[in-house]
Amino acid sequence: MSEYFHCDHGLYIGGEQRPAIDGGWFDVLSPLDEMPLARVASAGEKDVAQAVAVACKGLDLWSGLAPKDREAVLLKAAQIMEAEGEARYLELLIRESGSCITKARFEISYTVDLLRTAAGEVRRLYGDTFPNDRPDRMSMVFREPLGVVAVVSPYNAPLALLCKMAAFPLAAGNSVVIKPSEETPIIALAFAKLLVEAGLPAEAVSVLPGFGVQCGAPLVNHSDIDGIALTGSTQTGKMIGAAAMQRMVPAQLELGGKSALLVLRDVDPERAAAIAVAGMFNHGGQICMANSRIIVEAPIYEAFCAAIKREAEALEIGNVFDNSCAYGPLINRRAVEKIQAHLDDAITRGATLLCGGKVHEGLVYEPTLVVNPPRDASIWREESFGPLASIVPAEDLDEAITLANDSDYGLSAGVLTLNMQWGFTAARRIKAGAVHIGMHSFQSNALAPVGGSGYSGVGRSGGKFSTEEFTELKWISVELGAAL
Ligand code: NAD
Repeated sequence: MSEYFHCDHGLYIGGEQRPAIDGGWFDVLSPLDEMPLARVASAGEKDVAQAVAVACKGLDLWSGLAPKDREAVLLKAAQIMEAEGEARYLELLIRESGSCITKARFEISYTVDLLRTAAGEVRRLYGDTFPNDRPDRMSMVFREPLGVVAVVSPYNAPLALLCKMAAFPLAAGNSVVIKPSEETPIIALAFAKLLVEAGLPAEAVSVLPGFGVQCGAPLVNHSDIDGIALTGSTQTGKMIGAAAMQRMVPAQLELGGKSALLVLRDVDPERAAAIAVAGMFNHGGQICMANSRIIVEAPIYEAFCAAIKREAEALEIGNVFDNSCAYGPLINRRAVEKIQAHLDDAITRGATLLCGGKVHEGLVYEPTLVVNPPRDASIWREESFGPLASIVPAEDLDEAITLANDSDYGLSAGVLTLNMQWGFTAARRIKAGAVHIGMHSFQSNALAPVGGSGYSGVGRSGGKFSTEEFTELKWISVELGAAL
């Protein structure tokens, strides 16, 4: 059994683990069997104050290093993760987050990629110069770290997303205080320790396991926090965004999605169905970019529905340690209840169930597809964040684009067509942070600017776009004339 299970994990501050000052603990349950995996200290306001004070010291230590030395730390972290990530973290990821083995493996390898990409950004924090009104004056622009960044992370990809949210601010010279999801704090503790093992000053990264109100809120509201990175729900994003504006600190908000997949008339329905299933049911739909609204042009609608039903019903689910497993359990019982409520609402309002519709076993829910729900049903308007998608017909490309834009969210979209005129027309007109032609809406790339509009958030993360968000520009000028 892994060293992480059936033991106590303290808060991680300045390289040391300790209980919370108020003595709180909580059990982390495994979605695989809903049994406790380990007990974790529950941070409160006093712990936040301590961690932020430590991070202020960490900021001086870390931002004072030469860029090549910061780069070396992130590269070393990538090297350890590549060599030992599976041995150390695979079982933890599976048991703590309910990931199936292929998703857990992908998360580890993507984390390596993110660490290397972040390392590559360290030496590219370029400034600028610009001409002045007067010949004896010079102006230049520097990029400087924001300072101490609060990182508030979700449960669905608890290693890779946390790495994305922490490694780029670190690359830019910030220190970070991490508030991981209360569902998956153990992998966050392990990740921070790996960074310190790679040479990051221990003061530059702390982890405060705990709950949103008791720990997350005092962290993002702390007067010494200079920037915020949140990946989470739109509801949390609204609260954190408001808190950030109160204190006028920048907040990168990576929030929920209700992504559309357009299936246009020129594609093979069978191939399109396989792509739609891959984009929807990865990690049981617990993916912000899952294509949960599938819009199909009328001429191939019937054939597509028949094909996607076959594809979805053929998915192997539940046995997360099996390489052929498509997905495992949802994170907790509330997540299962939400899926059921969205499905019941759609069926009550006249939609048709194409396949699935019930719990497979434990917290594993069947791949579920609903045909033609009304546009005010929760399945169409709200993020379900589970294996539940709707399929609707569209008369033509124009109507398909209108339906895609019939959403408060704007994270990602896919357009399945071989006709690039149609593909680009849709890509330009769909309101989303990303549109993928010839593929589904769930795409990752460490260099890409990921983020959305509307309820999907504010800002972009990935590559240089992240380091830009976690630095601020400073104009420095120098007078060469005889002014003094
Ligand atoms: P969540 O909003 O419930 O929690 C996210 C984090 O916010 C957790 O650490 C939580 O404890 C904390 N939090 C909650 N209330 C808070 C408060 N008042 N103040 C400060 N912190 C608070 O989200 P979740 O359920 O963990 O994750 C799933 C959500 O994340 C989905 O909506 C999904 O779409 C979204 N997500 C978005 C992206 C993206 O790139 N846009 C990626 C992954 C997940």
